[in-house]
Amino acid sequence: MDARQQVTRSFVRQWIAEYITDFNAHSEQLGELDRLAGDGDFAVNMTAGLKRARRALDDLDVTAQEPEVASAVSQAFLNTGGTSGPLLGMWFRDIARALAANEDPVVALALGVADGTATVQRLGGAQPGDKTMVDAMVPAADALRQARDVGAPLGQALNAAAAAAHEGAQSTTTLTAKRGRASYVGEVAVGVTDPGAAAIALFFRSGASSVRK
Ligand code: ADP
Ligand code: MG
Repeated sequence: MDARQQVTRSFVRQWIAEYITDFNAHSEQLGELDRLAGDGDFAVNMTAGLKRARRALDDLDVTAQEPEVASAVSQAFLNTGGTSGPLLGMWFRDIARALAANEDPVVALALGVADGTATVQRLGGAQPGDKTMVDAMVPAADALRQARDVGAPLGQALNAAAAAAHEGAQSTTTLTAKRGRASYVGEVAVGVTDPGAAAIALFFRSGASSVRK
């Protein structure tokens, strides 16, 4: 197998590349949500994390396999500020571990997203319904587990995760926040979708579309 085929094999690398493009296209809108209900730095933090991730992936050997790619993304977010940086860094760390332990991408994602989400909840103390990224992560983890249980292929699993995460993110719009900076503004955040949850929904959408390509 030549190097180009090896590159094509890393679905996580393609997914991250797609996400960087999609996030950049939505960063204005996502940043505005944090300006309305938080402190306005969400898109800046995410853009910095994704820039670091892109540099790290560019530096990685073309033959790097899924766990190494996911670890590089984890490290990039861990080195980024805000609340989203470290939480996403830890989320990706569990995803990288699951990819190292499982050959099957759907099995790995089902495990890694579930573990990563549990880690985010342990560190940040958020439950579903608290108006955070957890509101998109939990339904995505559930959808991936169901996809794994029926032996669904990766594209189908990611489509289901994207739909579930989107619904979860949308559900944050009518909530008041119990965690994060949006919790400081009470009713003012009602009507504003949580940017972290929206970014997670977009992440799974990018994954589904990168697999289709
Ligand atoms: P900060 O609030 O420190 O400025 P960011 O703007 O980078 O952090 O990220 C804000 C996002 O982080 C929110 O939209 C929310 O999804 C997520 N978030 C904030 N606090 C928590 C928490 N305790 N648990 C999970 N996610 C959280
Ligand atoms: Mg912020």
